Amino acid sequence: MKKIAVIGSGFAGLSSAIELAALGHDVTVYEKNSQAGGRARKLEIDGFTFDMGPSWYWMPDVFEKFFARHGKKPEDYYSLKKLDPGFSIVYDKDEVLVVPASFNELIEKFETIESGSGEMLKKFMRKAAIKYEIGMTDLVYKPSHSLLEFINLQVLKGLFHLNIFTNFRSYVRKYFKDSRLIRLMEFPVLFLGATPQNTPALYSLMNYTGLYQGTYYPIGGFNEVIQGLVALANEKGVKIKTNSDVQEVIVKNSKANGLRVNDTIHLFDAVVAGADYHHVEQNMLPENLRNYSKKYWENREMAPSSLLFYIGVDKKLENVNHHTLFFDEDFDEHAKEIYDNPSWPKSPLFYMSCASITDDTIAPKGMENLMILIPLAPGLDDSEKMREHYFQIVLKRIKDLTGNDIENNIIIKKSYCVSDFEKDYNAFKGNAYGLANTLRQTAILKPRIKNKKVNNLYYTGQLTVPGPGVPPSIISGQIVAIEMDKHLKKAS
Ligand SMILES: Cc1cc2nc3c(=O)[nH]c(=O)nc-3n(C[C@H](O)[C@H](O)[C@H](O)COP(=O)(O)OP(=O)(O)OC[C@H]3O[C@@H](n4cnc5c(N)ncnc54)[C@H](O)[C@@H]3O)c2cc1C
Repeated sequence: MKKIAVIGSGFAGLSSAIELAALGHDVTVYEKNSQAGGRARKLEIDGFTFDMGPSWYWMPDVFEKFFARHGKKPEDYYSLKKLDPGFSIVYDKDEVLVVPASFNELIEKFETIESGSGEMLKKFMRKAAIKYEIGMTDLVYKPSHSLLEFINLQVLKGLFHLNIFTNFRSYVRKYFKDSRLIRLMEFPVLFLGATPQNTPALYSLMNYTGLYQGTYYPIGGFNEVIQGLVALANEKGVKIKTNSDVQEVIVKNSKANGLRVNDTIHLFDAVVAGADYHHVEQNMLPENLRNYSKKYWENREMAPSSLLFYIGVDKKLENVNHHTLFFDEDFDEHAKEIYDNPSWPKSPLFYMSCASITDDTIAPKGMENLMILIPLAPGLDDSEKMREHYFQIVLKRIKDLTGNDIENNIIIKKSYCVSDFEKDYNAFKGNAYGLANTLRQTAILKPRIKNKKVNNLYYTGQLTVPGPGVPPSIISGQIVAIEMDKHLKKAS
């Protein structure tokens, strides 16, 4: 049994801690904030419970597999509801695409929009299912130390189906012509932090989960999943210390042997860094012990940041769903302002969650719990004035497009933006979702999970493999724990 420290209590840190404890180690998690969960924390104000980050529960099998490793099921910790409809997309005032939970109904809906597209959707989804199967049962669990891991017969056979070298944009256009269907099919790649042009078609596996498996919701909010992992971690004997800011990884004879936390040194045999990779390297290690230089990070394509609003409204809304995407503006223009020419968007797309439609535990009776998200380029300067400008834009669009005038019904309002991500999570450039999943930043081309110069120091989380999103972060923690355990056993 080794004494292992984990920095950060996000999904990756918690999953790593659980896995390491299950492997017989003595694990302590240090979290700088006052609650566990990282980007998936919750905000409680006057009877409203807002999820601060993730709200789309996709890839339910990944959660099931993780809990099953520990003899548990998600339902042992939280109740899931499959949303029907899964979500809706507002293209214009009278043009709303409501995405049903049933795949057969979705096929019919496609057919009403573009003749022949129902059949094409079935074909698309058959291939996406293969990608999901190969990607999510095999590729995603590789530690990506070396290319050799990917060279086995199974994977080579799979490569043919994966469309790694085709870009998502042109791939979708081979199947669909109608711009509304194209926007629907392209939307899931936004979770990966890059444009469809820059994303390999492999990621149509996201369409499989979003449109075929469906969208789920943990009653009480997404943070219930964090509470589930915290409970499981406690059962395994993991100690979670909040309000514990890690300042330094202590290295002796090329080996991580402790942490400086709130100015006190604690000794350990090994360290898993689950805080943002860039922060750990730049602020907790001297230059000669880092895997990557400042220049390396400057050249990375970060996933977007976001401007978020958490809003309590003292009336019920109409004509919106649990998840509503406002895609009434030009996606490509907004994408340019995020990726090519980082600037505040002129006419942003935005997303609104109204989870109180499904869940009456997260808002007082007769009221709504709204979370609004505008994707933004990382690294922008944000100010109160700028946030308010966008708030007014969003309010007007909600009113014009859905008929809900909420301006005089807002009883809670809190904004969250680039500088908050930097302050609260030490996020490089205030990124919200880590590192973009472009081809140049996939698998072995992502920042490595192992420090090359410091023994027993590993990295986990959305800036390393497999990438951004809750399921990948859980997988990341699991991979790192297994690799570290193997390494510790070999070394002892
Ligand atoms: C607004 C938003 C919406 C999202 N929506 C979705 C969604 O709908 N579905 C989905 O699957 N994913 C979504 N994501 C992505 C998902 O939330 C992340 O990929 C995932 O939560 C990242 O987990 P992590 O453990 O890598 O990082 P984090 O959650 O950031 O965990 C890192 C932890 O390290 C801590 N830390 C940092 N510095 C220190 C230090 N010096 N000392 C101690 N602790 C430190 C931080 O406080 C934090 O708790 C969303 C993210 C955001 C921000």
